[in-house]
Amino acid sequence: MGIAGNIRMLKQHLPTGITLVAVSKNKPVAEIMEAYNTGQRIFGENYVNELVEKHTLLPKDIEWHFIGHLQSNKVKFIAPFVHLVQGVDSFKLLKEINKQGQKSKRVINCLLQVHIAVEETKFGLSEGELKELILSEELKKMQHVSISGLMGMASNTPDKSLIRKEFLHLNMLAAFLKGHISHATILSMGMTSDYKEAIACGSNLVRIGSAIFGERVYSN
Ligand SMILES: *Cc1c(COP(=O)(O)O)cnc(C)c1O
Repeated sequence: MGIAGNIRMLKQHLPTGITLVAVSKNKPVAEIMEAYNTGQRIFGENYVNELVEKHTLLPKDIEWHFIGHLQSNKVKFIAPFVHLVQGVDSFKLLKEINKQGQKSKRVINCLLQVHIAVEETKFGLSEGELKELILSEELKKMQHVSISGLMGMASNTPDKSLIRKEFLHLNMLAAFLKGHISHATILSMGMTSDYKEAIACGSNLVRIGSAIFGERVYSN
């Protein structure tokens, strides 16, 4: 069907009010332009070098989201232009984003990533760490980051009831966050395999790669 057709189909199925982030990691700029030409303006990447290169090559009205695990020492490369850092999984990283935001004279939007899956391998704050961060005095002093909401990934499992349970848990934590930071309204959950469950559980932003660009081929 092709990229343009995939996007059109997806948009027809997404309820209004759901933001679509097209996850373009490992995809060439020509394919991103195919998506761009359908009107898509929000793209997600999870490798810093790749993101910097694509930002240089592609139209400047694209909103770039960094969606993966971000190493503190690489924040400086994306701080001048990144629109949203999804996946802030430590206070240390948030402090570095604040520092680099100051250097770039920007306020950088961030989502806090919470570990909701049963798997050990996924990054994210625990519920306790999240609450501590939200309530901390130090956060209030950070003027170059804005907490815009939460992000999470469910377990990679065919068990839909487990997936829903994890998403509902994140939704509850999002309500806690909003109670303290009223503008933190983004709830980023759902990818190609589970975005329908995520939306049913309150997601308002989905990160979709394969359903738009096809399966990723890794060459190593
Ligand atoms: C790759 C990736 C996605 C998109 O995954 P698909 O299954 O291709 O839709 C979403 N979120 C994160 C954090 C990713 O790394």
